[in-house]
Amino acid sequence: MKQEITRFAPSPTGHLHLGGARTALFSWLFAQKNKGKFLLRFEDTDKERSKKEYEESIISSLAWLGIEPDEDPVFQSKNIELHRTVALRLLESGNAYSCDCSPEQLNEMREKQIEQKMQPRYDGFNRDKNLPHKEGNVIRFKMPIQGKTSFEDKILGTISVNNKELDDFIILRGDGSPTYNFSAAIDDQEMKITTVIRGDDHITNTLKQINIFKSLEEPIPNYAHLPMVLSNTGKRLSKRDGAVDLLDYKKSGYLKEALINYLVKLGWTYSDQEIFSKEELLSLFTLEAVNSSPAKFSEELINFYNNHYINSIQIEDLYQLIIKEYDVSYKIDSNIHYLEILKLIREGSKTLLDLINQMQFFYETPQYEEKHKDFIQTNIEIISVFKENISTLDFSDLKMLENNIKEFLSSKDLKFPQLGKPLRLILAGRENAPSISQLLFFLGYEESLKRINLFLTK
Ligand code: GLU
Repeated sequence: MKQEITRFAPSPTGHLHLGGARTALFSWLFAQKNKGKFLLRFEDTDKERSKKEYEESIISSLAWLGIEPDEDPVFQSKNIELHRTVALRLLESGNAYSCDCSPEQLNEMREKQIEQKMQPRYDGFNRDKNLPHKEGNVIRFKMPIQGKTSFEDKILGTISVNNKELDDFIILRGDGSPTYNFSAAIDDQEMKITTVIRGDDHITNTLKQINIFKSLEEPIPNYAHLPMVLSNTGKRLSKRDGAVDLLDYKKSGYLKEALINYLVKLGWTYSDQEIFSKEELLSLFTLEAVNSSPAKFSEELINFYNNHYINSIQIEDLYQLIIKEYDVSYKIDSNIHYLEILKLIREGSKTLLDLINQMQFFYETPQYEEKHKDFIQTNIEIISVFKENISTLDFSDLKMLENNIKEFLSSKDLKFPQLGKPLRLILAGRENAPSISQLLFFLGYEESLKRINLFLTK
C-alpha cells in the first residue's frame, strides 16, 4: 500500500488558533495512525501579511501539542518559479490561455451577470482566441465546460458540481505571480500529498485543483474537509470564544493533554468515550468518524478536560510543570506539605493559573475583605477561646488534629460552623476553602496562630 502523506498548510499571517490546531492535529493523527508522514507547508506568498514571527509561533504551538512535522517545513514562496513553469506548460498544452481582459471589461461583465441574476464569473471571452501570451496578460485555466467534477470526501461523502459552474480562474497574474489555488495544487503534487485534510471553506478550491491535477495527468489526492468550528452561539469564532493564539492557552495554564483531548472531541467521536490519551487516539483515530456538521466551541468543556488532566497527572510532575513554566510569587516547596496542598487544591482548579492563585493563601497572608473582617469580629469570642486551647491540639497528624477539634467543640458545647466559619475566614481569607483541620495542619501551628493573632490583638 502507498504510504500516506498529509500536510498542514497554514498561511503565516497570524497565530495558530483552535480551528487550525484541530486541522493540524487531525492530519497528524491520520498520518501517524497510517504509519505515514505529516508535513508542514507555509503558504507565505502574501509578502505583506506573512511574518516570520507567525511561522515561529505556529511551529511552537504545534510543538507544544507534540506535533512535529516529519520533514523540514516547505515554504511556498520558494516554489514560485516551479509554479510559473507549470502554468506556462499548461498554456503550451492548451489547458490554459492568455487573457488581456481589462479590469473595466471584467467589471462590466460582472455587473451584467448580476443584472441577469447570474453567478458572476469569467465568461470565457478570450478562451478560444489563442492570444499570444505577453507581459501584463493573465493566464487562465481552461475548465472543462461539459460534465461534472466530483470527489469522494472522507468526511462529507460525495461532492459534485457541474463544470459549467466553475470559473476559468487565473493561475498566473499579469505580474507573473501564481495564484493561491494554483500554487497549492502544484505544491501538493510536488510534496506527493496523498490525503489533503483542511477546512470545508476550501471545497471550491478543491474542485478547481482537481481539474488542475487532471490536466497535468497527475494523481488526485484524497480529500477530507473538516466542518468549521463555530462559537457556542453558532457564529464565527471570535477572540472571546477560542479564536486566540493557541499558546495563550498554555500561558493561562491549560495542559496540552487537555487541549488535544478537547480538539479531537471537536467533531470526532468514538462510542461515548470522552477521555482519550494520545496513545489511544493514535490507534483509534479515523477520518470517517469525524462529524460532518460544524462543531461548537465550549469553554465549559475545555475547562472540564483541563480539570480532568490537572487531576490525573503525577503530583510531582504537576509541581515540576508549574515551577518550570509559570511565574509563582511564592515558593511552593517552602511548605513541607506542598505536594498535599497541591493535591487538595487541584481538585477544584480549572487551570494552572487558577491553581497557583487558589494556593496562594497557604504561603502569603490573605487580603481580608471588609465584610469578612466584620464577620470575624462579631465572632471573636469563640476565636479567643479557640486560641487559648490551640496549644493542646496535635499539629503533627491530620487525623489527630481533626479529633482534637471535635473534642474541643463538644467540650465547649459549640456547633461546628460557629467556629468553622470565622476560623476559615481567618486562615484562608475566604469562605470557600478546605476543611478547618486541613487548613490548620497545612499552615502549621505558628502560621495559624499568627493569623489568629492578627484579629485578637486589635
Ligand atoms: N493556507 C490555507 C489556509 O490557511 C490552507 C490551504 C490548504 O490547506 O490547502 O487556510
